[in-house]
Amino acid sequence: MTSLRFDHQTLPQRVRFASSAAAENLRDALTELGAHRFMVIASRGQRAAAEAILAGVPVAHWCAEVVMHVPVEVAQRARDAAADHDVDALISIGGGSATGLAKAVALTSGLPIVAVPTTYAGSEVTPVWGMTEAGRKTTGTDPRVLPKTIVYDATLTQRLPVDLSVTSGLNALAHSVDALWAPAVDPVNAVLAGEAIRALRVGLSAVVHEPTGLEGREHTLYGAYLSAVAFASAGSGLHHKICHVLGGMFNLPHAPTHAVVLPHVLAFNAPNAPAAERRIAAAFDAPNALDGLITLRDALDAPRALRDIGMSADGIAAAADAIVAAAPAGNPTPVTTETISELLHAAWAGKEPR
Ligand code: NAD
Repeated sequence: MTSLRFDHQTLPQRVRFASSAAAENLRDALTELGAHRFMVIASRGQRAAAEAILAGVPVAHWCAEVVMHVPVEVAQRARDAAADHDVDALISIGGGSATGLAKAVALTSGLPIVAVPTTYAGSEVTPVWGMTEAGRKTTGTDPRVLPKTIVYDATLTQRLPVDLSVTSGLNALAHSVDALWAPAVDPVNAVLAGEAIRALRVGLSAVVHEPTGLEGREHTLYGAYLSAVAFASAGSGLHHKICHVLGGMFNLPHAPTHAVVLPHVLAFNAPNAPAAERRIAAAFDAPNALDGLITLRDALDAPRALRDIGMSADGIAAAADAIVAAAPAGNPTPVTTETISELLHAAWAGKEPR
């Protein structure tokens, strides 16, 4: 037994989690806010699902310009629309990109957000916003962008194609794994991360087996939520720094990048993070953490190589330098240009992580 000492912050947010109850839970959440003029942020692809759960809610404005990584000009148009329509609350219905746009509006307006997620990205749980300008992504943390309420309804994820479900679920898994060695890891978020990994293992395995089955979807959504709570509390570890650099430099798709990179970061850090290693192995019900992750990745048929998702090998040297500059000081395994270049080469080529 070791002595315990930590400083854990719990973020103020209500979470309503129930399948087939989004409409009812959303109405209750809006009543609780006391707002009356809503701007709904939902892409055209989510419009029908959004209309179904918004039945009877007066919508002052629909904002459908949802773009990954929130370009600043898109954020500005949404902010102008919110002001023009005099809205007093935002409802985001969609994946991390829809939530991200709502956050960009809340950042400058202070408008409250009710988030209805349809992927496993977990952005709805964090006070982290992100925007891109001229190909450069900037992120920041601000309590105003944390949604007041999340309405989780696993039936909304049943239409998410299996490949997107897998990469989105592995993006969630990356939140919990990385939380275990992130700068502000503590015993509370470590417990959440362990349960998150277990739920994602069980849930994602069921989703690929039966994509429209509800229980697999529920477990994956629950695991995604817990992962994001752990991540929001622990902060960004090495894995997120790597994906942030790669995403920004090469405009790679967000969730697949996480899916490819995670096993390499786990192989890199696990030998020097024994407590995290044991927790991850136990959550995977595997002899060791890396075996557990590789077994799940293979069962899910997840992407394995950065070269398959749009990265060219030319950029590895520049990316390695940027990652070394951004890496958290307390990473369990010391980070050098050589070790990160080796990791990136392996992830680029789709080599088995060691
Ligand atoms: P996304 O929101 O772009 O969605 C991916 C695709 O899936 C889109 O084409 C979308 O229309 C479609 N889709 C969404 N839900 C669907 C459903 N239920 N059925 C069918 N299709 C559906 O991608 P994402 O991976 O959810 O989010 C990625 C974005 O979120 C990135 O910009 C990332 O930086 C951000 N993010 C932010 C945080 C944070 O804490 N701030 C955390 C995670 C991700």
